[in-house]
Amino acid sequence: MRLDQISDRVYANCDGETGGNVGIVIMEDSVAAVDAQYPVSGADFRKSIPTVTDKPVTHLLLTHIHGDHIFGNQAFEDCEIVSHRRLREKMEGNLMTEWAPGNLERMLEDIRENRPERAPLFEGLRIVLPSSTYDERYALDGIEVIHLPGHTDGSAVVYIPGDRTLFAGDLLFAKTFPWAGDPTADPDEWIDSFKAILRMDVDAIVPGHGPVCDKGEIEIQLEWFKAVRGEMRGLISGGATQEEAVSHDGYPGFYESIGDRRERSLRHWHSVWKRKMI
Ligand SMILES: [Zn+2]
Repeated sequence: MRLDQISDRVYANCDGETGGNVGIVIMEDSVAAVDAQYPVSGADFRKSIPTVTDKPVTHLLLTHIHGDHIFGNQAFEDCEIVSHRRLREKMEGNLMTEWAPGNLERMLEDIRENRPERAPLFEGLRIVLPSSTYDERYALDGIEVIHLPGHTDGSAVVYIPGDRTLFAGDLLFAKTFPWAGDPTADPDEWIDSFKAILRMDVDAIVPGHGPVCDKGEIEIQLEWFKAVRGEMRGLISGGATQEEAVSHDGYPGFYESIGDRRERSLRHWHSVWKRKMI
């Protein structure tokens, strides 16, 4: 895997071919990795780190629970794996349900059958839990991991103030339609998290998916989220059903959806706002 230099101490891979974006922050004596993709690509990512630094990898900082970011944890099992408390709790819960031994095997079978091109990335999948958690913030040498929910309830960003650089995780799908249908996704929290990022001293943003960008991309997405919020809440006040809210054609134009991502995201948002507006 190729790692491109983003700023003084930050490198990243944003080609998106083998999972979510990943990167590293070079600290005084060691290295912190950000996200881990899938088992096979996570191992490839780990192997690529010595091509840009001799320092040992001591930390893996997770932005959120989705498999394209955390199924590669096992390649960093010797490191301190850091996540928001809710991310670890959700992983512990999943080990009793969808990731319980028989179910995990069924999930892999399902991937082999329905997404055969992705299946090789999952080979050898073993769930590895975070070893450290935090509620609001986690600080390391020149790095701040900050809880910013919206995409999921346990989402976080990795801020390197000295480099004016930020890993946004999946709060930002740069130049593409976001996946906003996770059961814990909350568009109001997402809007607040966009605003929090705009207040940070940041030039370069490594999104969870898509190319490296700047705050201009956050502004574009924030405007669209706000416009949809105004429009959809108005529809809900008028008694619109979920179907009506999803098929409504009055939302402003935005990036093309990948598959049914737009529909499932809007469906979820309708349920969130409907619940809040009762
Ligand atoms: Zn995600």
